[in-house]
Amino acid sequence: MVFKLSQKDFELIDAVLDDYAKKGKTDKICPYCGTPIKKKVVGMGYTVSCQTQNCLQETCRGI
Ligand SMILES: [Zn+2]
Repeated sequence: MVFKLSQKDFELIDAVLDDYAKKGKTDKICPYCGTPIKKKVVGMGYTVSCQTQNCLQETCRGI
């Protein structure tokens, strides 16, 4: 099953990235499972996800 992100999810992920850019961390939590959302750097890109598998996740590859 592929988890589909809504427009609201993208806004949340944007807010998480903004938090990381300004503070180096975020206190946002996943609206679906309630676990903390974290940003992980993967190679040239990064992944923003909560702590539950197959839940909120957005992967961005570096250019
Ligand atoms: Zn979640």
